[in-house]
Amino acid sequence: MEVKELKKPAQPDLFTSLSTLGHEQVVFCHDEATGLKAIIGIHNTALGPALGGTRMWNYATEQEALTDVLRLSRGMTFKASISGLNLGGGKAVIIGDAKTMKTEAFLRRFGKFVNSLGGKYITAEDVNMKTADMEYIAMETKHVTGLPESVGGGGDPSPVTAYGTYLGMKASAKKVFGSDSLVGKKVAVQGVGQVGMHLVEYLTKENAIVYITDISEDKVKHVATKFGATAVSQEAIYDLDVDIYAPCALGATLNDNTIPRLRCSIIAGAANNQLKDEVKHGYMLIDRSITYAPDFLINAGGLINVYNEFLGNYNRNRVFEQAERIYSTCLNIFDLASKEKINTQEAAIKIAEKRIEDVCRVRIPR
Ligand code: NAD
Repeated sequence: MEVKELKKPAQPDLFTSLSTLGHEQVVFCHDEATGLKAIIGIHNTALGPALGGTRMWNYATEQEALTDVLRLSRGMTFKASISGLNLGGGKAVIIGDAKTMKTEAFLRRFGKFVNSLGGKYITAEDVNMKTADMEYIAMETKHVTGLPESVGGGGDPSPVTAYGTYLGMKASAKKVFGSDSLVGKKVAVQGVGQVGMHLVEYLTKENAIVYITDISEDKVKHVATKFGATAVSQEAIYDLDVDIYAPCALGATLNDNTIPRLRCSIIAGAANNQLKDEVKHGYMLIDRSITYAPDFLINAGGLINVYNEFLGNYNRNRVFEQAERIYSTCLNIFDLASKEKINTQEAAIKIAEKRIEDVCRVRIPR
């Protein structure tokens, strides 16, 4: 009998990607009637249910959407762990145009898929998904958080995210300048959206000298006028002679092209996945004596906020108090990075992984 050889797949094997990044489960969701196409990535549930927002994006390819959800859900595992939360890491992406496709039926259908996972994944808002969308999802599942204040939710998480980012910046200043005062320090904020704007408010209150940029001229005008910040062009932000660069717009702005241009001593911002390559660009920053405050730690205020909402008895003051731990955790990361001669992103991941391992060990029945 002739034995046919199996053809090798053209795409990288899906299970290889899952095992490389360490995912537990990936769920593909499809609904013909509403046109819903979504992927839910559950990275790790060792500490608790996988909580992470749903992002809606017009991805060029399905592979791009898959890559995004795998990368983002892995980041959530580390973010929850290092923040001391009893949560695992998950994320969902919906493929399509958020401006035209988000009907009630579409969002409720997605809610049904979330519900089918029985609480293993908890969703929340992310790019192009608003708190109002969460209300429709909540009609089909209780495994959703980040609801508007008007229906008993915690409301907009960005002020808490900005507060944590500000504290991460102060901890970085303590390490680099010996004092955490930002008085007179020059700070470049890239992106003055929800988080960036609140961050500028904290900084100007402390009499830092703030430079801002955004692709929206209206936002730049508004924030410059309201807080007395100086507007610069989108490209000029990388070349400024400042103490601190705060990426609060996009991911991957720390890369081969931008790092050689930076003249700051500290990078501390709210954007997710700032380092294009965690290892290579993490070490490029060390070579230039730039201290990097890991993004997934200092932007965890938003996650702390939705976690508290999910637990019930939401208390905004308690949320801000929990976000204050970001300061000391940041200093611990800097210590570990110096001691082990690794970059700060690697040190942060090490601390996050250790908590997961330790807690798993505690849970093994004796
Ligand atoms: P946002 O959309 O309100 O603000 C982002 C801003 O960046 C917008 O004003 C946009 O015009 C601007 N922008 C986009 N591209 C730009 C570019 N090339 N140059 C300059 N500006 C540009 O989003 P946000 O909620 O303020 O979040 C900011 C970042 O922080 C995002 O990366 C987000 O993933 C991350 N983050 C946010 C939260 C939160 O609580 N909102 C929590 C964790 C992480």
